[in-house]
Amino acid sequence: MNTKQVKAYGTTAIAEPLHELTINRRTVQAHDVEMEILYCGICHSDLHQINGDFGPFAVPIVPGHEMVGRVTAVGAHVTNFKAGDLAAIGCIVDSCGHCEYCNDGLEPFCDEGVTYSFNSNDKVSGGQTFGGFSKTYVCHEKYVLHMPSFTNLAAAAPLLCAGITVYSPLKHWQAGPGKKVGILGIGGLGHIAIKMAKAMGAHVTVFTTSAAKIEDAKRLGADEAVLSADAEQMAKYNRKLHFIIDTVSAKHDVNVYLNLLRHDGTVVLVGLPPEPLEIGAFNVVLGRRSFAGSNIGGIAETQEMLDFCFQHNITADSEIINIQDVNEAFERLAKGDVKYRFVIDMASLKN
Ligand code: NAP
Ligand code: ZN
Repeated sequence: MNTKQVKAYGTTAIAEPLHELTINRRTVQAHDVEMEILYCGICHSDLHQINGDFGPFAVPIVPGHEMVGRVTAVGAHVTNFKAGDLAAIGCIVDSCGHCEYCNDGLEPFCDEGVTYSFNSNDKVSGGQTFGGFSKTYVCHEKYVLHMPSFTNLAAAAPLLCAGITVYSPLKHWQAGPGKKVGILGIGGLGHIAIKMAKAMGAHVTVFTTSAAKIEDAKRLGADEAVLSADAEQMAKYNRKLHFIIDTVSAKHDVNVYLNLLRHDGTVVLVGLPPEPLEIGAFNVVLGRRSFAGSNIGGIAETQEMLDFCFQHNITADSEIINIQDVNEAFERLAKGDVKYRFVIDMASLKN
């Protein structure tokens, strides 16, 4: 298959800094959309990947899966997009398209395995997928979203992963009026979850390890914010919450949070700590509680989420950086030193 050379930032070994390199993208096929990437968010999953937390990766690896851009070309059979349209691409760029999950709009659970926007096998080209720390992206139109005209387009890029990852469980576990929702961790995912859960009408309590974020949590819209190290404060929430979204990226004690659930309540893990988490039997048996997980969201639901955020004026609190500062950004993300999402202005990567 013909390919096109594209500038990107990536790395060839675990724990090595990212640097400029050239990748080969497939040329636009009949059902493909080509997008110039304007902005790309930096997710903690990008950091896990380049640290080797999820195992070895194919090299070079080009991270980035929160892409917003403008369509530059479309294949002959594309009907839904045209050159010049604002568009977006998230974590998923292909799936089988015919299994029961794909038919139900649950592409992340595709029977044949989903193709992620980076570090996956590209079934079309036979090569690997390279993420959004690059000038352009090419994929099937089915996996391209219509980007509403957000005033701050850069700040909307994180919705493509952080946004859908918390929107999907908020919808599934029916956040809304009368529901007491807990958010664990105020990072990229957590701060958007606060904004969305409030917009859905839920009562929102945030649990954080960072004393400095308590006031900020209220500015973001939380009704209550609790320092998780304060046992006395924590005890007040025993058996009070309907469900909790756990966005924590490192090993932590989930039993503490199971005990904050009402009967039939659920802790939904979206964070991806590399180590296994332990659960005490009584913390789920008593109260018929559940410990669940959730993986991003389907394509139709991602479009619904973008439209919901546009309607409710929800974007990420973002720090815009140049691609040349990406290694420093990863170091700061590892230390929790970002309020609350880095977004790369891809114009800083010259052709
Ligand atoms: P992030 O911006 O780094 O936020 C993570 C937050 O977790 C931190 O801000 C911190 O919040 C808290 N935290 C970190 N270390 C902790 C520790 N040792 N103990 C307790 N709390 C800790 O990361 P993110 O981009 O939001 O991503 C969060 C996690 O979700 C990552 O593991 C990522 O890979 C995963 N993820 C999963 C999906 C999915 O589909 N399931 C999608 C995207 C991301 P406080 O300072 O408030 O305590
Ligand atoms: Zn992500």
